[in-house]
Amino acid sequence: MAIILPPLPYGDDALAPTISATTLQTHHGKHHKAYVDKTNAAIEGTDLAAASLEDIIAAAEAKGDKGLFNNSAQSWNHAFYWNSMAPSASAPSGDLAAAIDSAFGSLDKLNEELVAQGTAHFASGWVWLVAKDGKLAVEQTHDAATFANGDAKPLLVIDLWEHAYYLDHKNLRPDYLKAVTAKHLNWDFAAENYARESNWTYPA
Ligand code: FE
Repeated sequence: MAIILPPLPYGDDALAPTISATTLQTHHGKHHKAYVDKTNAAIEGTDLAAASLEDIIAAAEAKGDKGLFNNSAQSWNHAFYWNSMAPSASAPSGDLAAAIDSAFGSLDKLNEELVAQGTAHFASGWVWLVAKDGKLAVEQTHDAATFANGDAKPLLVIDLWEHAYYLDHKNLRPDYLKAVTAKHLNWDFAAENYARESNWTYPA
């Protein structure tokens, strides 16, 4: 049972011009696919061959297998990222809307925080909206580090690696972050994640 490469939840051009079809095709079809392929190559014939991606990530971390951790965690982070965006932004509602107002004051303030932390993040990584004990926070992780496992539940993520925005925005990471937060965050996905008992799981 190999780890799959889930299809994009929308068409290649659905996020343009914020993220072009060329970027999505390369990012999903080359980068994400390579992480999945390398994960599968590393687990083939081992006791992790039939494990869930979340268990592979945890096992790699526990045994200090940096290569497997990077490829498995990046596989997970990218699938979570595709789902974190939509052709047009929805609006938070219900419990999630109340939690956003409580933690940040407003959705606009939360989006400003995502842009600020995503811009300040040095080099490659991810900026996340997470919930811990029902309370929301913006967090950053470096390189492949992930919220796949653990007691903080990820609600949304934005990829900060240059391959996510360089073809469309060159060096202007803030322009990419402002456009994604203003137009493409999938608040329905965030609300599902906020309501679920445990963390989102990678499709099998
Ligand atoms: Fe990426």
